[in-house]
Amino acid sequence: MSVQKILQYPDPFLRNICKEVSCIDKDVKEIIRDIKDTLSSSPGVGLSAPQIGKAVRVIAVDVSKEKGGRGLLILLNPVIISFGRKKLIREGCLSIPQYTANVVRAESIKIMGLDEEGRDVKLSSEGLEAIALQHEADHLDGVLFIDRVASIKADVFRRKGYKGDFPPVKKAGNR
Ligand SMILES: [Zn+2]
Repeated sequence: MSVQKILQYPDPFLRNICKEVSCIDKDVKEIIRDIKDTLSSSPGVGLSAPQIGKAVRVIAVDVSKEKGGRGLLILLNPVIISFGRKKLIREGCLSIPQYTANVVRAESIKIMGLDEEGRDVKLSSEGLEAIALQHEADHLDGVLFIDRVASIKADVFRRKGYKGDFPPVKKAGNR
């Protein structure tokens, strides 16, 4: 196991635009292993490489501990190629654990990329898994869920028990 520390907002590393994976070498394999280990030992349903300090386009999603989905999904260089109907949902992030927010996401998506062996993958996803994939793909472009809220005041919420600053941030602009 190599569980990594998850970077916390406002760590500027979370704003990196991550590099594409060009070959699945020893380093990339290690990043994939670290993402898997870190995700499985955390309460979240998804994790991206920049959250453990690696600016490469690798994401993992596993909603099976919440509901549905296909189990652990690792995608390299993910690109969302179509978006279904939009819906307002409540979202959180392992890098911003004190807050949740209302964010508009597609209920279903089609996404392509590479699997961890470097094979082309194209798949359809819906529900929580589709939402998690959109959230993790955003991380690769330095976009956080709080950037996507319509109003920091109306749509961002402290988690129960958190008494710290509010709101968390100035809006970083819509992307
Ligand atoms: Zn996140």
